[in-house]
Amino acid sequence: MARYEFTCPDCTAQLEFDDRQRSVAIRSGCPLCGRPIADTDFATREGGSA
Ligand SMILES: [Zn+2]
Repeated sequence: MARYEFTCPDCTAQLEFDDRQRSVAIRSGCPLCGRPIADTDFATREGGSA
């Protein structure tokens, strides 16, 4: 399963989302500060190797 690393440009929160959580976050904004989130604020990380 793909994981998405999100770094908030405003509050600098670093969170990891799965696909469903990512969709929710894009709709509702940063969980911490409420800043609108764009698709480009995520870095994709395929499962497994770090
Ligand atoms: Zn934020």
